Amino acid sequence: MKDASVSIEIGDGDRASPRETVPALSGLGELTPTQELISWALRRFANHEVVVTTSFGMEGCALIDMVAREQRPLTVVYLDTMFFFPETYALRDEMIRRYPHLRFENRGTTLTPEEQERRHGPQLWRTNPTLCCQIRKVDPMVTALSGVDVWITGLMRSQSATRANINVMEWDWKYQVLKFNPLTHWSRERVWTYIRENRVPYNKLHEQGYPTIGCTHCTKPVEGSKLGEYTRAGRWVDFEKTECGLHGGAGI
Ligand code: SF4
Repeated sequence: MKDASVSIEIGDGDRASPRETVPALSGLGELTPTQELISWALRRFANHEVVVTTSFGMEGCALIDMVAREQRPLTVVYLDTMFFFPETYALRDEMIRRYPHLRFENRGTTLTPEEQERRHGPQLWRTNPTLCCQIRKVDPMVTALSGVDVWITGLMRSQSATRANINVMEWDWKYQVLKFNPLTHWSRERVWTYIRENRVPYNKLHEQGYPTIGCTHCTKPVEGSKLGEYTRAGRWVDFEKTECGLHGGAGI
């Protein structure tokens, strides 16, 4: 099989636009050490608008740590839904202190919960969680990614069936941006090992039975869950919904 790192060196001199890059890079990454892959991508797209997005889950924290190692002043975008857990705000503040050369930007909705209730009735997350996610996550993400060329995410194939076919590099038709998923082939166990070995901050709710963490209204602990196991059980437990729609039908 072709050595992916060789492809990376060839790609360094390529000045094609991010979108034109996709076909050549769609198979990239399976054999390349993740840090090397991230390093290459940040060099390759140094003259483009690049952002990392995170919801401060375990994968996002590991990704931010790897990106931070490259010592570039990148922007980390997060969408404060105004329904975060106190532990999530505490983690955000810890990440800001730990990585001072990264710029953490809240690009969440400006619609207050009170105004949402006035417009759509009480507890929209119970009456229409899809609309609630659209207002508080998807629409703000559209705005946040407007003008962005390369979007770095912590998505992994092992997270859910809807993410099973993602590639390291792919064109996102929904947001019209090159999506770079360097953790594509990672498992939660590998993420947890990275977090431990590198003493990366993580949400303390993971230790209290929360495999993934979203809004307070829609996230519950999962009995018997382990730190090294990923599951989307615990999210929107009274609904069929398992994703918030951020990632072309999938979500974070
Ligand atoms: S996760 Fe729940 S509270 Fe948060 S935006 Fe979606 S429906 Fe609303």
